[in-house]
This record gives sequence, structure tokens and C-alpha cells, in this order.
Amino acid sequence: MMIEGKRAVARVRLRPPPHEHCATHGRKGLLTATLLALLLSAPASAARLPADVDGARILAADSEPGNWLSHGRTYDEQRFSPLDQINHHNVDKLGLAWTYKLDIDRGVEATPIVVDGVMYTTGAASIVYALDAKDGSLLWKYDPQVPGEALSQGCCDIVNRGVAVWKGKVFVGTFDGRLVALDAASGKEVWSVDTVLDKTKSYTITGAPRIIKGKVLIGNGGAEFGVRGYLTAYDVDTGAQAWRFFTVPGDPALPAENRAMEIAQKTWHGNNWVKWGGGGTVWDSMAYDPELDQLYVGVGNGSPWNHAFRSEGKGDNLFLSSIVALDPDTGDYLWHYQTTPADKWDFTATQHIVLADLEIDGTPRKVLMQAPKNGFFYVLDRRDGKLLSAKNFVPVNWASHIDLETGRPVLTKDADYLDGSPKVVMPSFLGAHNWHPMSFHPGTGLVYIPAQETAAGLEAQKAPLFIPHKSVVNLGLEVPDLPEDPQIEASIRAAWKGRLLAWDPVKQSAAWTQEYVSAGNGGTLATAGNLVFQGTADGRAVAYSADKGEKLWEMAVNSGAMAGPVTYTVDGEQYVAFMVGWGGAFTHIAGPLSLSAQVQPEARVTVFKLGAKSTLPPPKAAPRKVPQPPELTASAAQIAQARTMYNGLCGSCHGLNAVSGGVVPDLRYLGKSKHAQFKGALAGSRANRGMPNFSSILSEAQMESIQQYVIKRTLDLRTQLEATRDQTPQRHGDNK
Ligand code: CA
Repeated sequence: MMIEGKRAVARVRLRPPPHEHCATHGRKGLLTATLLALLLSAPASAARLPADVDGARILAADSEPGNWLSHGRTYDEQRFSPLDQINHHNVDKLGLAWTYKLDIDRGVEATPIVVDGVMYTTGAASIVYALDAKDGSLLWKYDPQVPGEALSQGCCDIVNRGVAVWKGKVFVGTFDGRLVALDAASGKEVWSVDTVLDKTKSYTITGAPRIIKGKVLIGNGGAEFGVRGYLTAYDVDTGAQAWRFFTVPGDPALPAENRAMEIAQKTWHGNNWVKWGGGGTVWDSMAYDPELDQLYVGVGNGSPWNHAFRSEGKGDNLFLSSIVALDPDTGDYLWHYQTTPADKWDFTATQHIVLADLEIDGTPRKVLMQAPKNGFFYVLDRRDGKLLSAKNFVPVNWASHIDLETGRPVLTKDADYLDGSPKVVMPSFLGAHNWHPMSFHPGTGLVYIPAQETAAGLEAQKAPLFIPHKSVVNLGLEVPDLPEDPQIEASIRAAWKGRLLAWDPVKQSAAWTQEYVSAGNGGTLATAGNLVFQGTADGRAVAYSADKGEKLWEMAVNSGAMAGPVTYTVDGEQYVAFMVGWGGAFTHIAGPLSLSAQVQPEARVTVFKLGAKSTLPPPKAAPRKVPQPPELTASAAQIAQARTMYNGLCGSCHGLNAVSGGVVPDLRYLGKSKHAQFKGALAGSRANRGMPNFSSILSEAQMESIQQYVIKRTLDLRTQLEATRDQTPQRHGDNK
């Protein structure tokens, strides 16, 4: 059954005149009389203390569009701004207003919060910055001092997706799992709690907290490292735990902790997942409907990926890959919708959740929308989680379609690597859409998705190989093989495509698209100026017309821009801010396929306004000589073995086949002096710099053979460059 095309219920003109800025575009349903009464009791905006934000103010966010008060700007997380001073007529006059260099040149994924002229944002290693939003001057900085050894215990770079603010405090989740409340005026710690349930496991926090009715909500990451996922609510004033919702069951030998776990337990088999963690981490998306008083949470993939090892190949494994609705006061389960039952492809449902009111088949609906990794765009009725429609937004091969009667995907055999043979799966584990936030424009009725086409070969392990180590991922799969041949590598890279997709959620079809040279492009921002802003993997900030997708402006920003941009005003002037800094999952996991040859890591806040003329410093230069490595002594057979070991243990940070994504050092550039320290580094000498200690799982001979593989790859690179008579290396690493 196809859903017939109808536009969004609450239409707005694309460019309302300035006096209409306060209109509650497209969120009539969220502003009931009760809520309005709450809003009217909110204090006036004059002479506020720093970060003087509460629920009433967030609910009335449309009455002060010059601020960006919470992660998705509003609780419905539409990332739509009613500002229109910058619009499709004048956006080509945007220039650089200011830029602020962040401390660590690694992946930047934060959405800044802007309140009354102050920007609160984060960089790598969970460092928080408070900046004057008008000129970028630093007001204060907070470094949570994440220990070096903790920095290696995450899958996808040491990123952070931003802070939340509430009544004079700024809240950040740190990479080592703390939730910290800071004084918004000084950046000094007010309280700090350790959210990690089990310190023997690699729990991380990369997501932005959300705050609902005086409770700070934070989940965690680490599914690939074997954790059990949960979401916790803490009191904003004291940090006292209010409630905790587990996403997967605990040990089946023990009684279920609550009703949700009773429901979930029936969908798991055996007890293997207890050892492997189960997964289901809540590492990014949340949204809130104040009228229904429902909190929506996106849940991640299972641990291990291999469903046969995780659950004897049986059962849906709730609440993996699900959208779960909870009571925000108690954390009680309300309903769920599972996007990928029995997931075995890392198809998380942690991607951005957007709430809107749409008219579907002539009926106004309160919907929840998500474009998760699995490549289907879902429209649910958010009152009860009923599936209204679903359609793939990129080519997929794991399911033919979603059955609207059952709400379940109809699987194909093409991606079933558990049937005895390896398979090429589309989308890959990086997803058709990842954490890069999408936006919804109530005027055009379109959702702007940073989509991508990727594929990956997956092969089940014959027998479970479980390595109990905090820095080792256990997937139950052979590491996806990527041939070393540079031409094959280039052809796969070319097949991984990025695309900005303007998706009509009612028609379930694309209104327009913009193609990119690479996957991994940035989140989007829609504005009432008929604009969509997006950063790109190849280092540009771009604006398109929201209705037609015409490119109207672009500017180079020195590095890949992945985060969701925001817009705000100071003294009546509109600004657009891009957090820039290449890195993240793409560079870590699929280094050779990312754009690391062209794009250097360089972390900055980069802010634009009309008529501004500031300039960025020149981008970092990449080319370096490839050094002469120590002698290659290993045989071809030893190298082949070492390659498997390298890709399994080192590849997820230093890049498959020793081709780094450019953020973590490319080991092919190690000179003789660094090679002298190679085994020491594997044995923990650089643990305080984020290099794991592998001495408990690697023998000295194994360390030596991994080193031999790196030497061999350096020689490969030298040969390759000599063949092209070009001593300019293709990639960049840090071997100072
Ligand atoms: Ca995952």
C-alpha cells in the first residue's frame, strides 16, 4: 500500500516577513493551552544570567529564533530555524565573520548551543568551549582530562556531539563516560557523575545530553566493544540518578529488571550475549513531544554483530535497532518500533529522530521520522509507534521492502552472510545515513538527509573468536577485506557516494538531490530563508535553496565539515556556524576509502554572516617524504598472517591495510627511529597518548610480525609513488 502524497499540514511561507518571526511554524500541535500558560510565566529575556534556559524557554524557542537553545533547536529536533535575514536572495554575500581554532585536530561532530550571545560547543576529547558568539573570543574552556588509555576505547574517533544547557549550567558527557555539570559563567565543575555501570567494559559517551523537565538524559557508546546499552536520567541540580532504562536484557538466569526487560527477554535465545554485552547503545538520538509527554530514543546495534553467536540465530533481540518511547519522568517503557529485527549488519536506529505534524491520506498525523543506517525512511505515528510508511532512500540489498501490515522488513538472501557464504551488504555498516543530523523544513515539507551509498563485504567467523580486551572490538565476523591494490581501492572509493537528499516524507520520494564526491558529508540546517546549509567531506560549507536544491553559495573551510550547522543572531545580525574538523567513524573504520588524501584534519568553529570579509589561514599542507623503513625480513606467508592480525587489531584506528584515514597516525610514514619504539608502543609505552596496550594479547613475535607488515606497506607506498614518478605521498599522517 502506498501512501498518497500530501504536503505537511502546517505550511508556512518560505520567507515570512520579519514581524512573523515569532510564529510557531509547524508545531501547532505541540503548543497546547497548558503549555502556553507555562510559557507566559517565563521571565523576560532582558538581563539574563548565562545559559538561563529552562523547559518553558525551550518550548517557546520559536519566540526567540535568534537563540539555539537545545541540540535540535527545539524538542522536536527539526533543526529548522525561523530566521530569514540570510535568505536565498542574499546568501551569496555570506563571508567569514570569525573562526576559532579548537585544541585537537580530530573529528568534530558538535552542534553548538547559542544562548543570549554565547556559544557553548565541544571539540575532540570532550573539551567544552564557551565563546562570544559575535566575535569568537574565548570566554572559558573546560578540559575534562579524559585519561589517555580511555581515548583508545571507542570505535569511531574521540568525538563529541555537543552540550546541553539549563538554568545556568552546561552539561557534557565525556569520552570516558562521565556526565559533568559546569557553571555556565565560569566553566567550573559543579558536579560530575560516572555513568558507567561496569568499568571493565569500554563504555564511551560521544552524544549530546538532552534535558527534559529537570532531568539530564545521557546514553553511551561501545556496542562493538561488548557493552550492555542503557539510558540514564539525572537530576540537573544534584546529579542524582532518577532512572535508568536498559535497552537489552541482562543475564537470563536472573529475574527481569522490569516490564520492558520481560518483553525483551523473550526475544533473545541462549545466554551468549551476556558475555558479548548485547549492545543496544543509545549513543545519539533523542526527541521529546511535550503534549504526549513521550521521550523517543534511538537504540543501536547488537553485540556481537553475528546474530548466530549473539542469540543462537533466533529472535528479534529487542530493543536493538529500535525506536523506543519512554515516560520521561520514570523511564518506563511506552512502545517501540524495531527497524531491523535480528540485526546482523550494524544497522543502528540511533540516527536523528525528527517529530512533525504531517497530513497523510487526508488525515493530520503526529509523526516521528527517522532515516536509520539500514537505508529505509520511516514515518511512524508517534502516539503509539504504528508504522505509517517506509521506503528505501538509497539502493539496499538486505530487504526488498518493509511490509506495512506487519511493520517488518522482507529480507532477501543477498545480504545473509549467515547462510554459509560471505556477502556484499548494501548499505555498509557505516550506513545509508549516519549520525550527521537531518533537518525538516515545515514550509517545503521536505527532510534534508545527508545520505550515502556504501557497501561492505561481511563474512561470519566459523567459530566465535572472543578476545576479552577493552580496546578490541568483537564482532563475530572476519574483518571485511579490502584488497591492497590501489586501483581496486580507488574503484571502491568511487563507488561510495555521498548525496544530499531532499526527501518528501509524505510521498516517500526524493524532491531533489545533490551529489558529492565522497560519503561522510555533514549534517543539515533548514531555514525560513528558503535555505539548506550543509558541510561537506571535501571541506566546504554550502547553501542550497530549500525548495529547488539550487546551489547558491559555498566556501572552503580547510577540513571536512561533518557536524550539523546552526544559525543564530547577535545584536540583530544573523550568523551561520559550522563546526569543522575531519575524522570520525569513516576515517577510522574505512580510512582508505575516506578523502584523507585531499582533506587534512583541522578543527575549527567557522562562522559566517552577510558581507563579512575575514579569511581562514591556509589549510595544512599534506605532502611528506616516505621514509626508508627498517629491513623487511618476513616471508610472504608471514606477511599474509600479519595482515589479518593488523587489520583486526590496528585497522579500526590506523586504517585497514595500514592506510590511515589521516586522523590517527599513518604508520607507513614511520622512520627508523619510530620503528625502534614500535614494539614498546604495542606494549603500552604510549598508553597515555591513547594507544592501547596489547601486551596481554600479543606475543613479542606477533608484535614483530605486525611491524613487518607495516614495513611492507611502507615499501608498497614507495614503489607506488616511484611508479608514478611522484615523490608526493598520497596521504598524510603524523610521525613527528
Ligand atoms: Ca555500531
